[in-house]
Amino acid sequence: AATGPRRDSATDTHCPYCALQCGMSLLPDPSAPGGLDVRERAAFPVNRGALCGKGRTAPAVLAPGARLTEPLVRREPGGALEPAGWEEALDLVAAGLGRARERHGRDAVAVFGGGGLTNEKAYALGKFARLVLGTSQIDYNGRFCMSSAAAAGTRAFGVDRGLPFPLADIPRTGCVILVGANPAETMPPALRYFTELRERGGRLIVVDPRRTRTAEQADLHLAPRPGTDLALALGLLHLVVAEGRTDEEFIAERTTGWEAARAAAMAHWPEYVERVTGVPVPQLRAAVRMFCEPESGMVLTARGPEQQSKGTDTVGAWINLCLATGRAGRPHSGYGCLTGQGNGQGGREHGQKADQLPGYRLLTDPAARAHVAAVWGVDPQELPGPGRSAYELLDALGRDTPDGIRALLLMGSNPVVSAPRAAHVAERAAALDFLAVCDVVLSETARLADVVLPVTQWAEETGTLTNLEGRVLLRRRAVAPPPGCRGDLEILHALAARLGWEKGFPADPEEVFEELRRASAGGRADYSGITYRRIAEEDGVFWPCPQPADPADPPHPGTPRLFLDRFATPDGRARFAEVTHRPAAEEPNEEYPLLLTTGRVLAQYQSGAQTRRVAELNAAAPGPFVQLHPRLAERIGAAEGDRLAVISRRGRAVAPARISRDIRADTVFMPFHWPGEGRANTVTNPALDPVSRMPEFKVCAVRVEPAEPD
Ligand code: SF4
Repeated sequence: AATGPRRDSATDTHCPYCALQCGMSLLPDPSAPGGLDVRERAAFPVNRGALCGKGRTAPAVLAPGARLTEPLVRREPGGALEPAGWEEALDLVAAGLGRARERHGRDAVAVFGGGGLTNEKAYALGKFARLVLGTSQIDYNGRFCMSSAAAAGTRAFGVDRGLPFPLADIPRTGCVILVGANPAETMPPALRYFTELRERGGRLIVVDPRRTRTAEQADLHLAPRPGTDLALALGLLHLVVAEGRTDEEFIAERTTGWEAARAAAMAHWPEYVERVTGVPVPQLRAAVRMFCEPESGMVLTARGPEQQSKGTDTVGAWINLCLATGRAGRPHSGYGCLTGQGNGQGGREHGQKADQLPGYRLLTDPAARAHVAAVWGVDPQELPGPGRSAYELLDALGRDTPDGIRALLLMGSNPVVSAPRAAHVAERAAALDFLAVCDVVLSETARLADVVLPVTQWAEETGTLTNLEGRVLLRRRAVAPPPGCRGDLEILHALAARLGWEKGFPADPEEVFEELRRASAGGRADYSGITYRRIAEEDGVFWPCPQPADPADPPHPGTPRLFLDRFATPDGRARFAEVTHRPAAEEPNEEYPLLLTTGRVLAQYQSGAQTRRVAELNAAAPGPFVQLHPRLAERIGAAEGDRLAVISRRGRAVAPARISRDIRADTVFMPFHWPGEGRANTVTNPALDPVSRMPEFKVCAVRVEPAEPD
């Protein structure tokens, strides 16, 4: 990658990876891996030219050696995957899905999507599942990502948009509490906003069981025991009340439910919170002072507090802290979630979620069903009801029961590495009568498939994505795909036709987006005033952006900041959540005395299916490791680099020891990007949050012991 002036042949587009969706320009360069050179695009306001190593090396995943370029089919049960033509492969997929439906009913066929799919793909996939297959069984890997924050945000504010303000507001606030987020490694260009915050005199508090690269930059680092963020937030709120730091006017005018939330928080005395979390009372008091003294403040969460079996309530407690101090619905203040996946925001708005229809509408709402059914030209009665959440869906795969799932179409996800209790998920997937996977690479999940369809990817196709700020972006095609690959929309079009739907599934993304606009009109995430042209001209448009009722009216400008006048609840007030601390689903005991928490590293992304194929990234982060404190290492007799087994009730993962004082002595950490014996998700717990159905990736009880030599 290089910097330099943009030449005319450059295509302005966006990174294929995380939710920041950094802007970049791509220039043809036959000598570069993937045939493209990445140039900075300083004019794009989100990353302002900065890119992390993943973005800079992204064209490498386009190179023929790094990806699939022809369909693969398994012609004999137990046989190998073999190259096939597109017609044969598509016929087999249509037959496999159709056969399961005929023999076992509509809900025996399922669809699993991904938070990296474009808005158009997410929309088309949801429509395909509900109309062509007629199944209620559709969900996606975003359920594993931010669903607790989405549920808590909707409960409190009436709508969930990751950040209800642009990232550019961060440096203008007084204090940010960053809870379970490590942008220094997950989205490095975003770190600039926090650096600027501190340069302008603002304060940064980081809550993380580990002293991460982000925590190193904080004014105050609180390191709670994994799974106790809820108690921590309640303890802080207790002190806010006790020290008379609540904003009574804001509470009275713009919220409901304070008395119950207040009473719940007052039951969480600082000394009790110290015992539960391990965070000393003086640090709790310092955090409250730092947060409350300025006029404004923000709480931003990521997967740490969200991926818990009480994730919704945990995020709710942090939102309570914002509401009680008047830090919501005001300029440069509020609660936000740093979404993880590239289209983590848009992916949850257009209908690939088990309980939702496009426009972020509820599938159980008769008016929503009627609106979407009218756009799709069907009777609302034909739309199935809500289905299982992601882990529950995966757990039902291949089950020989009346409600078992016999056939699965999977697009843009690798659950055999990324789902909790992953070995079990792999077993379930292998038990399916039929599995079809659309992917760029032969992922660990694709290896189990009966048919693998090689798809085009980011720089080879055009589509929209919605970044973590709710900014709808156009990711443009910069290069032709290899002849053997087809777009996901093209595949859905071809499958729909084979299953009796000649119309309704266009392969052209802009055509799909035009329908998505109509389907979203009037919904919580209203895209009806957004067009490809507008996005191109304005370099992104924030939703909600309704189309004016009168075409003569000026276009809606989009909504960078939500809630300044009113919240999106029926009465316009934000709702406090009445929440109390409860332990994680698994607490340490004699057999499993430690806690495991998982996360990402700088040079890899999600299940690693793409980034593990990029030489530079692999050189920087070649494999998994077990981070542990020197005291723990000494106790179990481990030296740096020794192979360690991390064992839970579900299985064991083996990886070299990385000894560090940057982690609590009662906790070990593993990154989750790798398959094989170092697969962290073999160990993680699928215990679900009762509201969001988010699994508890972030905490489970384990023991750690030396493993046998390699
Ligand atoms: Fe891509 Fe995210 Fe890195 Fe930006 S921060 S270059 S979007 S991976």
